[in-house]
Amino acid sequence: MRQHLFNADNIERYRDEMTRGVTAVADHVATVTGPWTGAGVAEVVSRVDDIDLDRPLADMGQALAEVKDVYLDDAVWFHEPRYLAHLNCPVVIPALVAEVLVSSVNSSLDTWDQSAGGTQIERRLVGWTAARIGFDAAGDGVFTSGGTQSNLQALLVARGQAYLAGDADPAEPLAHTAARFRIFASRDSHFSVQKSANILGLGMDAVVTIPTDGRRRMDPWALEQALRDTRAAGLIPMAVVATAGTTDFGSIDPLERIADVCAESGVWMHVDAAYGGGLLVSPRRRHLLAGIERADSVTVDFHKTFFQPVSSSAVIFRDGADLRHVTYHADYLNPRSSAQPNQVDKSLQTTRRFDALKLWLTLRTMGADAIGEYVDAVVDLAQAGYELLRDDADLEVVTAPTLSTLVFRFRPDGVPESVADEVNPGIRRTIAGSGSAVIAGTKVEGRSWLKLTMLNPATTTDDLRAVLDLVRSIGHELLDDLYAPEEVH
Ligand SMILES: *Cc1c(COP(=O)(O)O)cnc(C)c1O
Repeated sequence: MRQHLFNADNIERYRDEMTRGVTAVADHVATVTGPWTGAGVAEVVSRVDDIDLDRPLADMGQALAEVKDVYLDDAVWFHEPRYLAHLNCPVVIPALVAEVLVSSVNSSLDTWDQSAGGTQIERRLVGWTAARIGFDAAGDGVFTSGGTQSNLQALLVARGQAYLAGDADPAEPLAHTAARFRIFASRDSHFSVQKSANILGLGMDAVVTIPTDGRRRMDPWALEQALRDTRAAGLIPMAVVATAGTTDFGSIDPLERIADVCAESGVWMHVDAAYGGGLLVSPRRRHLLAGIERADSVTVDFHKTFFQPVSSSAVIFRDGADLRHVTYHADYLNPRSSAQPNQVDKSLQTTRRFDALKLWLTLRTMGADAIGEYVDAVVDLAQAGYELLRDDADLEVVTAPTLSTLVFRFRPDGVPESVADEVNPGIRRTIAGSGSAVIAGTKVEGRSWLKLTMLNPATTTDDLRAVLDLVRSIGHELLDDLYAPEEVH
């Protein structure tokens, strides 16, 4: 029974089974010709549910053949050029090599005594990211499971700082004061801001929504006004969340102006760069993040615009000392007396993956510029897509892209909005069912729109043209069906 344990005795089995795993993926990907098969939910569910988990198969070969059937055959492939739906990237090979090491060695980055060099590699990468942001040596942070957790941690620290800042009555318990805390974020900010406010016990009204301009960027004057109104109402501004790359529109809030407003009013500035973080390494577009260095905290999702496998994210603070708000000591783990650097002192997690090694091997083989060139390529692609949409009589686009998303809809002249609201979700469903492409949908001012998210440097303008042709032809078919005269019997 012990032959399955990863150890020196079983190294040949390890080599053999790992190779089988890699071969299964490689052989399969070589045959993939589209982002998805369009398989129905019922079909996939029953195939998975039919498996008897109490009767193991004879060997890895059989198990991998079964995985092909229940998973690979109908997987959604982010590396396919016509996968254009969500913020999922194709991944770089060095990071996949790192995944093997991360899982096999299985370091846990909570304490030095469980990870040693792993902890130091993460610390170097946190420092590297902080320097790219423009923070000085006081900058510090930690890798997290994703932007959602990064935003939560940033706001947890901001809550601690606001409580200590003096606006709050020191005799008043945090739970009381927290009911008066307010977070400011644009209407296009990520829902994890709302979720964090809820988790942090701030109540359901804690997020004040700030309007955006025509390019979907936070209006800094409206922010100033909202801060004044909040204070006048006896409430306490706790943090401003500026989004550097909104999930739907890829727009970047005016970071310099927001930093001025935050500095004047003494409010914590968090930049949610989960999406736009890749610009930190962009050879041509780093300037789009100007002002990010004035933030108190920053979220960066490496598993979006650094082409890393899920999970890989970080939250970085301008002053690492602020991380004390998440520090707890356990005698068995990280006692106060410990002289070793223990990352658990800075993290919401305890046991934690060594995701940092993926970015490390990426930087050590490809280099940061190569990643940045990928980012530039997808932003260029979105620009080309915008030009196609702008010149198309049947299609409307909300705004020119800053990053790599396009929100658009099929609406030829004379088609009422209510009809467009029916047709556009239908287009999306039909395309998904066909398996030839995957696109997303969203709502703008309550109306149904479609969305292309471009994160694949291998996608070409011809791919976009083909997908838009598909949108148009399906759109016209659906319109014809809607307007077709009743059949006469
Ligand atoms: C994706 C995203 C998040 C959430 O990140 P996860 O890694 O999915 O948890 C937060 N903010 C923005 C702007 C995002 O685009």
